[in-house]
Amino acid sequence: MEEKRFPEFKSDLCAYCGACVAVCPVLALDLKETKLFLDKNKCIKCMSCTKICPVGALK
Ligand code: SF4
Ligand code: SF4
Repeated sequence: MEEKRFPEFKSDLCAYCGACVAVCPVLALDLKETKLFLDKNKCIKCMSCTKICPVGALK
């Protein structure tokens, strides 16, 4: 089975709407001004954030 990867963040696409932060079930995402932080110790690779992002900044 292919190993799941962490979501990839494209900062040039991000609109800083905060939707991904709100949807993450384990609070692994944090938006600070214009930077999105992913805590890889918390992330369970559920990919909910990639689905909710309206601009495709998370893949
Ligand atoms: S993949 Fe899931 S657990 Fe990881 S940051 Fe996105 S929403 Fe949170
Ligand atoms: S959902 Fe997408 S556009 Fe909104 S803050 Fe997250 S990465 Fe940026």
